[in-house]
Amino acid sequence: MVGFYFPDGNDEFEYDVRGLMTSFFPGEEPVRLNRRPDAEEALVYDSVLEIPAFPEITDKGERKNATKRAFYRQLSALTGGKELPWGTLTGIRPTKLITSFLEEGVPEYDTASEKGFRSLMKERYLISEEKLDLAVRIAREEQKVLAGIHYENGYSLYCGIPFCPSRCLYCSFTAYPIAAFAGKVDDYLSALFHEMEETAVIMRGKILDTVYIGGGTPTAISAEQLDLVLDKIGETFDLSRLQEFTVEAGRPDSISREKLQVLKKHGVSRISVNPQTMNDKTLELIGRRHSVEETVRAFTLAREEGFDNINMDLILGLPGEGPREMEETIRQIEALQPDSLTVHALAVKRASRLKMEANGAVIPGPGQIDSEEMMRIASEGAGRMGLVPYYLYRQKNMAGNLENVGFAKPGKAGLYNILIMEEKQSIAALGAGTVSKAVHPDGRIERADDVKDLKEYGERIEEMIERKRRLWR
Ligand code: SF4
Repeated sequence: MVGFYFPDGNDEFEYDVRGLMTSFFPGEEPVRLNRRPDAEEALVYDSVLEIPAFPEITDKGERKNATKRAFYRQLSALTGGKELPWGTLTGIRPTKLITSFLEEGVPEYDTASEKGFRSLMKERYLISEEKLDLAVRIAREEQKVLAGIHYENGYSLYCGIPFCPSRCLYCSFTAYPIAAFAGKVDDYLSALFHEMEETAVIMRGKILDTVYIGGGTPTAISAEQLDLVLDKIGETFDLSRLQEFTVEAGRPDSISREKLQVLKKHGVSRISVNPQTMNDKTLELIGRRHSVEETVRAFTLAREEGFDNINMDLILGLPGEGPREMEETIRQIEALQPDSLTVHALAVKRASRLKMEANGAVIPGPGQIDSEEMMRIASEGAGRMGLVPYYLYRQKNMAGNLENVGFAKPGKAGLYNILIMEEKQSIAALGAGTVSKAVHPDGRIERADDVKDLKEYGERIEEMIERKRRLWR
């Protein structure tokens, strides 16, 4: 057990130092102490850490960086020289920081030059050469892909359909199993349609750049219901300048030719067919309730129906999986040749862990899986398929303290994915469990969420709309 305390009681960076501790000691829940313990009290702990303090640094940002660097070095020494690939960067959007440095510069560093920029990242954040290469490559790719986006005068629309064929055991999204909730879909859609109408009025005058229908699994509802959703979007919003229209078909067991034809009819340009793994035994352990064969069938159907921008999601670090399973998954994905591939590292919350274990899964502890090697296999496979990395984000509790990376063929990158990470454009989000984000011209970001519970969503729809009005007032 690790204990820590702030010598001067100033805990302004507690969140940040906790992030570093859990990266150095995965699986530990560090205990905060009110003061330095005496020798006897300290015996309870494997280590007691004093958080460095720099009260003489007046700038808060610099003070935070100095604290994190000093603490990082302390932790590295304590763990026999362990280093973190991302150095002191504990946030979920490392490329956002890099993009802002590349665009705005940093006074004391020559960030316009590659050399100056690299010294900044290494000196200030202790980032490894390998992650720096990856992050800079992605940041530059993002800049290229987003060149045609309307920032101040544009926005993206997210629409949540919170139903799924069944609930995957690791799921942390708002997702109601369709078999039990089929009778609630029409009521949900009528509230959603009202929210669409009012949101279209709120956003009038702005250019709609991208639409993303996610969930849940939007294709879990019937073809007729899907048709109504897409009709309504077309009726209420101006899609004339749309650059991307994504529907996360997601679960292969929800995809039929009829539904794909509905998507095509409405101009959907990008879909996801998500295998997560191409290993039937793992799919069963994680409660996905579909087979590898169904994934191949759904993908082939989508190609037959003319979809030329299909993404596939994979999860790295699933129970019982190691480099060998990843090799096999990649081998099968290569045979399908998707247009983009998103590799997520498994991030399990405690409740999901318990559910998977109850289903017979043995979940490896932190540091027990070779996630770096699995990511290497996935990245090399993506390279062989002609896909380049274009977006990246990190999460808490991720396998191997890694990152999620999206790879795409040139011209097939998911614009919405980048926009949500870079936080440079407003997103109007509709539906239960969604979060709208207003990015104001002065850089301020404000959020408003829609309640997760289906019944409450319907009952409180006027309140959800009012929250959006306030955001873009
Ligand atoms: S398909 Fe996705 S949203 Fe649906 S239950 Fe599984 S993880 Fe959750």
